[in-house]
Amino acid sequence: MNCLWCGKTTKEGIQLRELVSFTRVEPMVRCDSCSSKLVSLQNVPICRGCSRHWIEEELCSDCQKWKVEYPSYPFKHTALYQYNTFIKEWIEAYKYTGDYRLGELFKKEIQSFFFKQKKQVIPIPISDKSKQLRGFNQVEGLLEFAGVSYTAVLIHCGTGEKQSSKDRKMRMLSPQPFVVDKSLQMNIKGKHLILVDDIYTTGRTFFHAADCLMRNGAQSIETFSVSR
Ligand SMILES: [Zn+2]
Ligand SMILES: [Zn+2]
Repeated sequence: MNCLWCGKTTKEGIQLRELVSFTRVEPMVRCDSCSSKLVSLQNVPICRGCSRHWIEEELCSDCQKWKVEYPSYPFKHTALYQYNTFIKEWIEAYKYTGDYRLGELFKKEIQSFFFKQKKQVIPIPISDKSKQLRGFNQVEGLLEFAGVSYTAVLIHCGTGEKQSSKDRKMRMLSPQPFVVDKSLQMNIKGKHLILVDDIYTTGRTFFHAADCLMRNGAQSIETFSVSR
């Protein structure tokens, strides 16, 4: 088995946990060396609102600002890994170069987060322009590799300008780019939802999407991303 990211051969063979559980554990998609470049947000103090590394009990300064605009928003986000060079390079290769296979890189972690998840999973949509360029929605790709079923109720009707090409101030001012697909509205009315994106950067995308879903009758919303 070769590491999906660096191509190095990873050790195969029966692992201890396979002997203990008598089940075949799927081979690792990442080698240990690549995994060691990731900084997990699972066992460190984080902001409950956005999952960034944060030691205080209170919401972080970013979330406090959002709270002014969205006072009744529940602020519950889970991110797997801290944004760093490894994540940046992965995003570039997967999302911007359009290497679909790299959507498998975080399959196991995504699987275990969504295992037993009862909420409706809603991926953040991308614009038609991005879809044409890339050929796929990178968030749906992540969920598909992990075998997580989702409902694509949101439609992106914005211009498709890359958020990453804007500075922070411009991002914050960007207008609402999402609408709900009316034919799927019963999937959100009165339902508990979990919104999924690849990265949480400023939060602007999540807040637009959450706002759109709340206005269309969602009961509750939490959010998930691979990185923060
Ligand atoms: Zn590797
Ligand atoms: Zn926060």
